[in-house]
Amino acid sequence: MIRRYRKLTHIAVFVFLVFVPLMSYAAVLYQVFGKGGYHIAELSGTFFENKLYQAYAALLSGFSEPVILTDSIKGSFWSFTIFGYKVSDPLAFLGHLLASGTLFMPLLASILLPVILALILGRVFCGWLCPMNAILELVDDLRGWFQKYFYFSLFSISFKGRNKYIVLAAGLLLAPLTGISIFPLLLPYVAIGREFFSLVFYGATTTIGLLLITAIILFDFMISRRGWCRYFCPGGAMLSILSFRPLLKVERNSGSACNDGCNQCGERCPMALSPGSNITGPECMKCGECISTCPRGILRFRFTSRPAAALPLVLFFILLSTLLSYGSSAHAHHIRGFPHYGYAENYPQIPTAQYGGATGDWDATMVAFFFDGAEELRMSSDTPNDVQFFIHILNMKTNQSYMGRMNFAVKEDGDTLVGQLEGITPLEESAYRVRQTFPRVSGNYTISLRIFPEDASGPVVINVPFEFLRKGPNYRLISVGAGIILCLIGMALYHKKKAISQQTSG
Ligand code: SF4
Ligand code: SF4
Repeated sequence: MIRRYRKLTHIAVFVFLVFVPLMSYAAVLYQVFGKGGYHIAELSGTFFENKLYQAYAALLSGFSEPVILTDSIKGSFWSFTIFGYKVSDPLAFLGHLLASGTLFMPLLASILLPVILALILGRVFCGWLCPMNAILELVDDLRGWFQKYFYFSLFSISFKGRNKYIVLAAGLLLAPLTGISIFPLLLPYVAIGREFFSLVFYGATTTIGLLLITAIILFDFMISRRGWCRYFCPGGAMLSILSFRPLLKVERNSGSACNDGCNQCGERCPMALSPGSNITGPECMKCGECISTCPRGILRFRFTSRPAAALPLVLFFILLSTLLSYGSSAHAHHIRGFPHYGYAENYPQIPTAQYGGATGDWDATMVAFFFDGAEELRMSSDTPNDVQFFIHILNMKTNQSYMGRMNFAVKEDGDTLVGQLEGITPLEESAYRVRQTFPRVSGNYTISLRIFPEDASGPVVINVPFEFLRKGPNYRLISVGAGIILCLIGMALYHKKKAISQQTSG
């Protein structure tokens, strides 16, 4: 029964991951082509776009504001919002905090719910919600089936469980050193959400995401059963830390003994734990496989203390996170605590880059949306050389956003003017939005932002360097991915050799 519920939850997870970008895309079509489809003749798009538009219109046109309704459910497991309530991965908060050195309260509020759940239920996210785990369960079945019917012995290599904490620590250490968080690139459940989004919006996936997911699948299939989750996933490591004393545990009924020599639960456990001996600890995913497997039915989930005792605390934190969450911005691409923008075009995390510059008290932060690292998407785009900038200008002294008009100019190599726009006013959330076509997809540029603060004696110019570098496939990222795979294979072979030599000498 537990297994069936878990499988149903996995299906619901994938429906969610596909449904959200589909609805977002449909909402974009609906905005472009109008309610009632009076511009539908112009919808020169594909069969898919036509059908999607029509389904969306049929489903939601009874609502007065279907697009606003659609926009209220966005994101994936890295960060999502449901009717204004924001939830983020704790690593999204930590990565942002360390990379930017800024404590962004809405982001902190948005991690309260997952943190509370992990404190009480342990790694329940892994067992029930993580889409990578859902895929790896199938890989696990395939692995067993393959070994059974093909008499083919796949590696089943154990690594040190502490490896995942090293990966987590390395990611956290790199954040302040490089100014970026590598977790969105490293976590497969983030990659899966991103790939679904890219597939729906652009009809293509990204190289880096596919590479990561494929590498993990191959690694688990050929080298180490459930090796990624057990030994390397920084998300799992974070959850294990939070699950140091979960209230929910798997336990054997007191007074019931196992069948002699039976270890079916341990053999089935994806985390190689021993639930039959009541040894589970923070690694337990609460998947319930052991409970479903036990031939005597003597295992069960049990709260170690009455959950009611923790209820006031839980309610307090949920209330706090709710209060902080509404009316604030803590969505997916709030890497540096920026206001939220560019949802329809870019949500949740199409590759972005950020740049900054300052003059006197004025600090400008610029997010650029382009096809950095997603060359196959660029190739299929009508505007491959376009960059969309979202610019936020802050007075560091007063901590107030600049809201006046702004002139925007792009210079190549410091002096050749590429383009300029004057008198731009901000959108909602104090962000200026500028779209600029570049002569080519490489080069060093300077973006000059000229602002006119009332209390200054004249205009203030803030120069922000912008590097537009990509050309062809992102070989750097591909090499890093290939390097990681080779290292994992090398480590696996080393451990295998060591195990064999230990067996021989024993
Ligand atoms: S360890 Fe990582 S990949 Fe595995 S289930 Fe947990 S979050 Fe997902
Ligand atoms: S001990 Fe049971 S519930 Fe925990 S991970 Fe193993 S099989 Fe799943």
